[in-house]
Amino acid sequence: MADYGHDLVFGTFLTPQTADPHAPVALARLSEQAGLDLVTFQDHPYQPAFLDTWTLLSYVAAQTAKVKLSGNVINLPLRLPAHLARQAASLDLLSDGRFELGLGAGAFWEAIEAMGGPRRTPAEAVEALSEAIDIIRATWDAATRGGVFTDGAHYSVRGGKRGPEPAHDIGIWLGAYKPRMLRLTGEKADGWLPSLSYLRPGDLQRGHAIIDEAAARAGRDPREIRRLLNIGPQDATLDTLLPLALEQGISTFILGTDDPHVIQVWGQEIAPALREAVRAERGTAERQVIRGPKALAQRRDDIDYDGIPPALKVAAVEPGDKAYPKVRSTYIRSGSPGLVLRPGTAAEVAEALAYARAQHVPLAIRSGGHGISGRSTNDGGIVIDLARLDSIEVTGTAVTVGPGTSWGHVAESLAAEGLAMSSGDYGDVGVGGLATTGGIGFLGRKFGLTLDHVRAADVVLADGQFVRADPTENPDLFWALRGAGGNFGIVTSFELQAYHVPDVVFAEILYDATDAASLLGRWGKLIEAAPREVTSFLYLFAARRGQPPLARALTIYADDDTDTAVVALTPLLSVAPVLQQQAQLVPYAAIVPPADAAHYGGQEQPLFSNGFAEHLDDQVNEIVADGLRSTAAPWIAIRAVGGAVNDVDPAATAYAHRHQNFNVSSTGFDPERFRDHWDELRPHLDGLYLSFETDTRPDRLLDAFPGATLTRLRELKARYDPDGVFNQNFPITPARAPHR
Ligand SMILES: Cc1cc2nc3c(=O)[nH]c(=O)nc-3n(C[C@H](O)[C@H](O)[C@H](O)COP(=O)(O)OP(=O)(O)OC[C@H]3O[C@@H](n4cnc5c(N)ncnc54)[C@H](O)[C@@H]3O)c2cc1C
Repeated sequence: MADYGHDLVFGTFLTPQTADPHAPVALARLSEQAGLDLVTFQDHPYQPAFLDTWTLLSYVAAQTAKVKLSGNVINLPLRLPAHLARQAASLDLLSDGRFELGLGAGAFWEAIEAMGGPRRTPAEAVEALSEAIDIIRATWDAATRGGVFTDGAHYSVRGGKRGPEPAHDIGIWLGAYKPRMLRLTGEKADGWLPSLSYLRPGDLQRGHAIIDEAAARAGRDPREIRRLLNIGPQDATLDTLLPLALEQGISTFILGTDDPHVIQVWGQEIAPALREAVRAERGTAERQVIRGPKALAQRRDDIDYDGIPPALKVAAVEPGDKAYPKVRSTYIRSGSPGLVLRPGTAAEVAEALAYARAQHVPLAIRSGGHGISGRSTNDGGIVIDLARLDSIEVTGTAVTVGPGTSWGHVAESLAAEGLAMSSGDYGDVGVGGLATTGGIGFLGRKFGLTLDHVRAADVVLADGQFVRADPTENPDLFWALRGAGGNFGIVTSFELQAYHVPDVVFAEILYDATDAASLLGRWGKLIEAAPREVTSFLYLFAARRGQPPLARALTIYADDDTDTAVVALTPLLSVAPVLQQQAQLVPYAAIVPPADAAHYGGQEQPLFSNGFAEHLDDQVNEIVADGLRSTAAPWIAIRAVGGAVNDVDPAATAYAHRHQNFNVSSTGFDPERFRDHWDELRPHLDGLYLSFETDTRPDRLLDAFPGATLTRLRELKARYDPDGVFNQNFPITPARAPHR
């Protein structure tokens, strides 16, 4: 009696015939339409009657949208493993995570030899497959630094480049019958894929036993290995399949047929009926996550993993999981949380929060993971990662967005409607962190901050309540969320007001910044006097390797009238010696494209500090220039605010900096010199933006929330988060002692 508890998968095994090359493609599409999960093709690259399977798989991937694809099974001997890994990853990326790698050690050696391939004994073929699996997995593992090196009996790879990483965790399924292959399946594969017609009575049980034993010896849980089975039309009945599913451990049934009617019946009648029968017998529809002993050994003692709410279990990521390298770190900081919860709905966010509160470990809230302070990950605690709340809905000029999407994606969706919203200077920055803190962006002087266009927010409060915050419902909370949001709850949805923006003029000028102080003075005066269409960000870089210090100005003229743009932008060419310049008319979205880059950590976390300035006066400019020269602050960004940002009453939102014209931020790596530099600069600045700061000491809150703003925030903190649940990222102390 074996049931490994996997969810059921139903697929087809289609002939990749050349006689009518479009027939297998049509059958693949039909399989998808019939509701099947998987389409597979045999792979015999030496056989002229068959299409090349890789080419066919790629073609079918482009002609389908949902169905998964695999070779059944891909012939290893005619392919180099590192190249095969890259082919698989490429197809997985192009098909949005729909590729699985059915893989075989080889057969028909004469035909393989005739194509210039090797001839291997059965033992050698298994050995080669084992080496190949290691190379394939290492090539997919883009998170590990350094090249791939192996020196095997069949393949030696010397410094192979890693990546691309597949879109999803591609399963390697082995077509195995003999003990050696079955042992390899248990040791290294994700699935066992035999054909029922080649099995004798008892072979399934014997196969499972060998796989399970080999898995256990390799420190794996046998349930990590999916059991698949190729079947024929005569086997596709409930009577045959139900015992195979419940007693013989099979969870994936792949039907070999090219008959459209059989495919339809398989997908629309037999598969749903079997699913229902198995569900009824198992008594649960819950998908299980299987972790082997190695993964379980990496669990943290102070987190109750068994108590994770069922709805969150499948998407949760633990330190021993393959997905962990992708979710442990943020853009700026390497982390090692004990658990990353990835809720997919507001209700799941509330469940995640209640569960996390009960664990008494650090709690981080993450949307896009671009928080400069790096507090959206932690060490040993829990991260609530909102990446799955990534919807974007545009209705007229109103936009409803999830916190987990990025501003680049928002810009793309809005551009389709001729709309835009200012966010920041980088498309991968997340909606959640930026919209709750500020949003100093390229359209700022014309349209204001991002948070000035937040019309409402749905929030899960510290106590798990769902509330809406807008000008009439919970207006105090609405005020606090716009500037100090991270302290008050988890925003699960934002309602934003976008605006019509034609194409904009985007100018890039590279200056020699040897005389950085005068450059800053001239640039600052010009920007203050410029029409509101002009917003400019100036980035300065310390001199290196024989190059002078450089300054790069990215300037937007927020209109498509190029004549007035030229008049407004030309003076910028005279602020310092120009090394390069270009300007183009582009949609706003083209300036902040999403890169969807993964965060792997491992980097040295830089220090950031910032402050606002009403004017770039001589003192500020000299100190900033000094920091650049001495490399105490080798990277500086000065972003224009002012204009529409300053039309808003400073008391209207918790972001209170409404009279300054610039935000000055810089980055350093030497803590002592960086602190000294900022101790000198800060007295000449006025206020601080939390999103450009790594110094999370309480003093910085006094700069970020001047006077009455902080007093009001402390009162509201006492009301909305008296126990300090949201206390990892610039925590505000509640005004009163927490009441219980
Ligand atoms: C390369 C880069 C360029 C940038 N450029 C700009 C710029 O031009 N202008 C600008 O204004 N900012 C800019 N920033 C700063 C950016 O706005 C902030 O770091 C912002 O917090 C990132 O949002 P996120 O969702 O990606 O961050 P995350 O790291 O996911 O979150 C940061 C913090 O925000 C809070 N938070 C996150 N999600 C929620 C939520 N749903 N509800 C409540 N609180 C939440 C948490 O306290 C969390 O620690 C830039 C950052 C980077 C890394």
